[in-house]
Amino acid sequence: VSAAVTRLVPLTVGWSTLPLDFFLAGEPGEIRFPVTAYLIDHPAGLTVFDTGLGPTYIRPDGAALAGKFDIERSGAIDARLEQIGVDPATITRAIVSHLHLDHAGGLALVPNARIVVQRAERDYAYAGQARGYNRDEFDTGQDFELVDGEYDLFGDGSVLLSPTPGHTPGHQSARVRTRAGVAVLAGDACNLRRSLDELRLPTFGDDLEEYRRSLLKFARWQQDGAHICFSHDPDFWSTMAPGRAWPSADADGR
Ligand SMILES: [Zn+2]
Repeated sequence: VSAAVTRLVPLTVGWSTLPLDFFLAGEPGEIRFPVTAYLIDHPAGLTVFDTGLGPTYIRPDGAALAGKFDIERSGAIDARLEQIGVDPATITRAIVSHLHLDHAGGLALVPNARIVVQRAERDYAYAGQARGYNRDEFDTGQDFELVDGEYDLFGDGSVLLSPTPGHTPGHQSARVRTRAGVAVLAGDACNLRRSLDELRLPTFGDDLEEYRRSLLKFARWQQDGAHICFSHDPDFWSTMAPGRAWPSADADGR
């Protein structure tokens, strides 16, 4: 029997604009999309999943847009937590799907959290060969809790981490059991609803064959009744109610 978390709260923690083929190979044009994270409230400790864009990109509220990554001060993970009544200093763990700058950027803003990451991802990030990693923002002096493969975070089945490589070598996703069902926090292994519905690969990835196998994992979880939370899908996030426990009564389904 698996326990449920007390609450799961989706959060938006920045915005980005990139060519659409970063998500769907062959598609023209650009896409503006939210950068996302979650609070996972469990009796054994407050946890976040991903941390959004960090200090490198944070601009004062109201200041002009600076580039393809955009976050106002009031949109950063620490501010988002305060807005829902959570002191960022009380976060004990920060699970990161992977260490790219739009997922690990806010780690320093939850300063007492251990960084829960797959060992393969930590090693790849520190090797420093790939783009998309800001070492300053993940090499913060916070402790790492390294994961090798499948991991039951609290030992009660409520938060299950699972490798979903392809985007990066050590990418992981989380299945979170709430009283209303299981939410799959996809990270960049499944960016858009169309990625899954059409089994569409991005143009770039560490290993696109692994990416395809990871997409098939999401398809199985979905068949088993889980709700897939597409990390960067603007249409999907327009149905979410950031800052409210999931599933929110005023979100229109899903
Ligand atoms: Zn990424």
